[in-house]
Amino acid sequence: LGETIGDNLERAAARFGDREALVDVPAGRRWTYARLNADVDDLARSLLARGVRKGDRVGIWAPNRAEWVLVQYATAKIGAILVNVNPAYRTHELRYVVEQSGMTLLISALTHKSSDYRAMVTEIGFAGAVFFDDPSWDALLAERAPAADLEARKAELSFDDPINIQYTSGTTGFPKGATLSHHNILNNGYFTGELLHYTEADRVCLPVPFYHCFGMVMGNLGAASHGSCVVIPSPGFDAEATLRAVQQERCTSLYGVPTMFIAELAVAAAYDLSSLRTGIMAGSPCPVEVMKRVVGEMNMREVAICYGMTETSPVSTMTRADDDLARRTETVGRAMPHVEIKIVHPDTRLPVRRGEPGELCTRGYSVMLGYWDEPDRTAEAIDEARWMRTGDLATMDEDGYVNVVGRIKDMIIRGGENIYPREIEEFLYAHPDIADVQVIGVPDEKYGEEVMAWVVMRPGAEPLTAEQVREHCAGRLAHYKIPRYVHVVDAFPLTVTGKIRKVEMRERSVDLLGLRAAAE
Ligand code: ATP
Ligand code: MG
Repeated sequence: LGETIGDNLERAAARFGDREALVDVPAGRRWTYARLNADVDDLARSLLARGVRKGDRVGIWAPNRAEWVLVQYATAKIGAILVNVNPAYRTHELRYVVEQSGMTLLISALTHKSSDYRAMVTEIGFAGAVFFDDPSWDALLAERAPAADLEARKAELSFDDPINIQYTSGTTGFPKGATLSHHNILNNGYFTGELLHYTEADRVCLPVPFYHCFGMVMGNLGAASHGSCVVIPSPGFDAEATLRAVQQERCTSLYGVPTMFIAELAVAAAYDLSSLRTGIMAGSPCPVEVMKRVVGEMNMREVAICYGMTETSPVSTMTRADDDLARRTETVGRAMPHVEIKIVHPDTRLPVRRGEPGELCTRGYSVMLGYWDEPDRTAEAIDEARWMRTGDLATMDEDGYVNVVGRIKDMIIRGGENIYPREIEEFLYAHPDIADVQVIGVPDEKYGEEVMAWVVMRPGAEPLTAEQVREHCAGRLAHYKIPRYVHVVDAFPLTVTGKIRKVEMRERSVDLLGLRAAAE
């Protein structure tokens, strides 16, 4: 689509005017496309009256709610750059993104869970903040620039302009500000919705955070570019609230990261999920067993797996509804339409043979403009021919189906052998007493690294010892892949998007095992 996000929304309002566009379940509020577009125009004019210029950075720091979506579209309509601020951030991270992006206005919730956002904004000394549910928000809305000013601004916009800075999840280190254009994210959302066969009859339940591409692009833009409706079940993730919203709103599609689906499966039997047809599981490796249960127990017959990253707007590969079940559960699908994928040797940078693991690189409309104000890191990530290096290890078969083996940074090298944690995780996951498992490398004097498994037991199951786990693996996994250490936990350390922070697991394991000396 060669148009701005504002133009796309206007087309949706013209085509689907009286169809439902947005439902905020906790707030009990609903918007049709016509109403959504009109409210977005009003907010855009208020932002103009506030003096927001083209290219100005406007932050949003709030859990999911309808106003989040209004802000998303209103900033796009006036060519301001929306800076998505992670709801889990604390003062020092907030200060980092406010300063790094050069933000001039921040639209924020007052509080979320136990966090006092206003106090944190005050603490960093940022003066340009407006808060929802507060007189400062009403004051913003009270002023409006003339409609002609909005028309004039629209005439200055191009679909290649930057309109969004999304900081990466920070799974492997400090977040980086991926800078994205209308073209990047509108097309990524559009093609995601296209492959899910969205029409104006679809209703998409989004428990995934809007601040991340998963919610904002695949969710909001994926739905709106096809006239489908977005349903917000709760501000932060809540398995029961999500399934209740699916049941009450007759949702046809549901998104989540694997940990969310695992929580929903535990309570799914209590809800009527017969309206569900499709959805997306993405963000981290999707265990095959979980995928199969989602298809069988949640009625998500056409559920897709996507693979991608913030820097690629985000989807690079996706399964198709007509792929057979094995491919839909065991691979991350094929390249998105108009996106190129290649797998290269991490050192030589030459393509590897089909089926061999290498670094996945991608090119096409979805590759970000660059990291905000970080030309060196941009040059490291995107080569001269515009190929994006993902840092992920993957294989591709003869038919183009991709399998993600893991992150280069998570690969374990034990005594010269490359070990992909994913393989051991899939193996242990099939153990009847194990509910969830993550495998990491920990420092070892003799082998460089040793294999460690963190295990969550199924309710009622006795905690497994390292010996029991090793016995279970003996003869079925190569000896060097068998975990030396096993640590039973209630949950893994997560990022706010529900991703497992292996960096933190490694740090904690080093302490736990008294390996500090070896690590240094
Ligand atoms: P940071 O770059 O800050 O360390 P991050 O890479 O987790 O954090 P995101 O951009 O949110 O930030 O996540 C992209 C990464 O998530 C991919 O590079 C990949 O490692 C992982 N990922 C996404 N989808 C899948 C999938 N379907 N299967 C396996 N891994 C996936
Ligand atoms: Mg990353």
